[in-house]
Amino acid sequence: MKIPKKIKILGMVFDIKIEKDCRAEDNSICAAYIQRDYGVIVLEEGLHPDRMGQALFHEILHAVDIRGELDEEQTDQFAHSLYQVFKDNKLLKDA
Ligand SMILES: [Zn+2]
Repeated sequence: MKIPKKIKILGMVFDIKIEKDCRAEDNSICAAYIQRDYGVIVLEEGLHPDRMGQALFHEILHAVDIRGELDEEQTDQFAHSLYQVFKDNKLLKDA
């Protein structure tokens, strides 16, 4: 999928950045993370395109999970499933 430079989530515009050496706030290595209060989603440079799309969906789910009710495993499961449905139905822009 083509990764947009910005995405609007629940009325807030998030910048999407692709960076080398992606590290979360706790300095752990990760494929992606979100800084909801700053309107930023960071994705790791060099990920497989499908993995990058899944990672973006994962961070979008964190953004819409306002109460923080989904754990990481649930977020990942929904992200992968939704990404695949969108991909299979050609709802994603190609790169
Ligand atoms: Zn997560």
